[in-house]
Amino acid sequence: MDRLVATGTKLDEPFRPLMEGAPVQRTTIIGLGLLALLGCTPATAADLSTTIASMTEPAQGAYTFLHEHPELGKKEFKAQTYLEDALKQFGFTEFIASTEAPTAVIAILDSGRPGPTIALRAEMDARPLERNAVEPTSHMPRSQIDGLMHNCGHDIHASILLGTAGILIANKERFSGKIVFLFQPAEETPGGADDIVHEKILERLGVKAIFAEHVAPGMPIGTIGIAPDFALAGSNYFHLKIKGRGSHAAAPNEGSDTPLVAARMAIELSEYPARHLDIANKPVVISVTQFLADGNAGNVIPADADVSGTIRSFENISLGENGEPSLEQKLDLLVSRMASEAGVNYDWAVRPGAPATRNDPALFEQIIAPLGRTWPGMLDTHPGRGMFSEDFSYYTGVMPALYFSIGVSKDGRGLAGVHTKEFDAHPDIFAHGLRLMTTLAVIGTAGKMDWQ
Ligand SMILES: [Zn+2]
Ligand SMILES: [Zn+2]
Repeated sequence: MDRLVATGTKLDEPFRPLMEGAPVQRTTIIGLGLLALLGCTPATAADLSTTIASMTEPAQGAYTFLHEHPELGKKEFKAQTYLEDALKQFGFTEFIASTEAPTAVIAILDSGRPGPTIALRAEMDARPLERNAVEPTSHMPRSQIDGLMHNCGHDIHASILLGTAGILIANKERFSGKIVFLFQPAEETPGGADDIVHEKILERLGVKAIFAEHVAPGMPIGTIGIAPDFALAGSNYFHLKIKGRGSHAAAPNEGSDTPLVAARMAIELSEYPARHLDIANKPVVISVTQFLADGNAGNVIPADADVSGTIRSFENISLGENGEPSLEQKLDLLVSRMASEAGVNYDWAVRPGAPATRNDPALFEQIIAPLGRTWPGMLDTHPGRGMFSEDFSYYTGVMPALYFSIGVSKDGRGLAGVHTKEFDAHPDIFAHGLRLMTTLAVIGTAGKMDWQ
């Protein structure tokens, strides 16, 4: 990444000037890698490892472009053009359009031999930073758009998947059947994977299994984690609107003191799992992420307040067990009781996010032994559970799927968490990511794996 520092010249159409031979500053970096890529002739059996190694620089070049041009969900227009153009330069000719997720890039690679169809998936979208935050100036490459950043690593996943496509089209003899390269928009917002699933695109293509990786800050480079069952929690989002009576700040007794009521509710909601639920066996995390109460002056207590946040769990929070109210109902009861005591009205709404991501145990068994034989680093088959959530879960709900974590930490880099502006990854991630995705494609289609 450091040695691929961009010159800062913006380029809306990254490939075209290169193809026309125009001297464009930015493309020199990206383009040199791609020319090397284009120069890749079909590899022989012995040199697949070499091909993978040769693809790391082009993958880094793609990463540089994507990282510098972050785009929000369903607006990944530059990423779409970049990825599509690169795939066409590799020789891809078969693309499927999505009407519900129109910025998706879905490319199909046919080995020409009978075999299963599998999909490899990466995301395309970036994220808004916290209010007034920008990516640290020490980062290279760095977002060129204030307030937006690829701080969930989706640029890394997409550039690795692009490089994997370049490797596999030059090595068709190494796999059977077909591989679908799915560059999916809008993982961070509604309407990415759920749209692809709703549109039945993978179903129509006959996809039998799907694989994805996600960067894992703090996990050492060379380590991959794969759970045999549940991999990630499901998410729900709540919004609590409290409606009370305002007053002069000097006389809180004349109003409902709504900000204080909201603060108490925020604390009770956040602490609820630890004190009222069996979190040792069924983990639940409730976090308040937005708190708004604005009197627009230092001496006014506002009438209303808003508290929003997320509920994470592996179970469905709308379903109660053994005749008990569901978690969603319990929280509504908590808020109702507190609102009644405080003499305020309220609206309580829960919007479902992605369900829990559940790996397929049979596919896990099929993949894990050959992967263990070929993976040169640490393969952790019992990774600790986190409460993160992913829209990859929509695929896991309709077909066998595996979701891998891959380490990005080395030499002090790759330690900051995703969704923070400090997030980064050690550049060795590209070589490891290419190896993982290529291996999954070959094993997943039961192709030859004699290149170790
Ligand atoms: Zn994320
Ligand atoms: Zn992510």
